[in-house]
Amino acid sequence: MTDETKHSIYTRLSHKGRAGTHVHGFVNPPVHRGSTVLVETMQQRRDNAAKAPTERVMTYGLGGSETHWALEDVVADIEGGTRCKIVPSGLAACTVPLLAYLGSGDHVLVPDSVYGPVRSFCDTMLKRMGVETTYYDPCITQADIAPLFRPNTKVLYTESPGSHTFEVQDVPGLAEVAHARGAKVLMDNTWGIFHFQPFTKGVDVSMQALTKYVGGHSDILLGSITVNTAEDWAAIRASNGQLGMFASPDDCWLALRGVRTMAVRMERQEKSALEVAAWMRNRPEVKEVLHPALPGARGHDIWKRDFTGACSLFGVVFQPGFAPERIDAVAEALQLFGMGASWGGFESLALPSGTMPRTAGTGDFGGPMMRLHVGLEAPADLIADLDQAMRKLHANEE
Ligand SMILES: *Cc1c(COP(=O)(O)O)cnc(C)c1O
Repeated sequence: MTDETKHSIYTRLSHKGRAGTHVHGFVNPPVHRGSTVLVETMQQRRDNAAKAPTERVMTYGLGGSETHWALEDVVADIEGGTRCKIVPSGLAACTVPLLAYLGSGDHVLVPDSVYGPVRSFCDTMLKRMGVETTYYDPCITQADIAPLFRPNTKVLYTESPGSHTFEVQDVPGLAEVAHARGAKVLMDNTWGIFHFQPFTKGVDVSMQALTKYVGGHSDILLGSITVNTAEDWAAIRASNGQLGMFASPDDCWLALRGVRTMAVRMERQEKSALEVAAWMRNRPEVKEVLHPALPGARGHDIWKRDFTGACSLFGVVFQPGFAPERIDAVAEALQLFGMGASWGGFESLALPSGTMPRTAGTGDFGGPMMRLHVGLEAPADLIADLDQAMRKLHANEE
């Protein structure tokens, strides 16, 4: 690769995926909205169709446009891959690769802490297709995962840290076992973003919900599927095309706007989240804080080995004596943290985790839980807000 790859993430996010000089000198690529792509001759049409699987030529709107390609180039660069496909949501980014590599009679290994809608996809559509799913403990060791592989295991799915409970997986170790058995390694890298380099750690296909920090403003849904080999690119491109997945160019343009400031936002949010997490950990009502970047927290050692930083999403486990309704009351009393799904925007969110659908016996941390997303607000204001809301834990202060 060129020297460019040595530039810092700040520099790359400012320079990748820019418009060429052909756009009148404007800095940003245009928004191309289009279905039909006209040709001058039938020979041109045939030539374009022949080139389309490997080169960027426009044959029809579904194949993407310069707007999509600019975003694809930025995401592929930050993940260290060669090609990327932008899809309409983070969930689509997770399901398309599963459909690309699995068929009737196959088996897939999925961590018990997987993003809920992916579990639902495995238990419904994949099951209907004749694909069997085994859920495994996300903290499983190399030695313990080996016997879970069967001759028909085609995919090892990973997500690290896990949804809601933030288990850090030994991705390089598990990938080694998967590759020895001829299985593909898929990873949901939404939490790691550019802080986890999937292709240097044994991952074949890396998925992200760009809805989160790349979008950064809670106003779009998008996903990315990044690969590092021509073989994986062919598989992803084919499945995506067969399904007719298409992301709006307007949303891609918004994501390109979001990604320019992402490293700066994330740096600030990472710092603020660690401050809030450390404060929470010292509260007597709190049993444990699930934040891999917090020294002494679960998963910290693997996080330190494999990640270069953290995002601003983490979990809090309250003391077991508090009823779930008390945790709901805390979330409802917060003034600066909104209550809602998703994360990665500029604003803080709090969501009681409720009962998680686990089937491999993991996920019980011994107390009611809440997930916090720390936004761009001042951490002192967020801490003061948590301080007042946590009075709701004590029923007599209602
Ligand atoms: C949000 C999320 C997704 C799905 O993203 P959407 O764009 O909301 O579909 C996938 N994986 C993880 C870990 C997520 O947090």
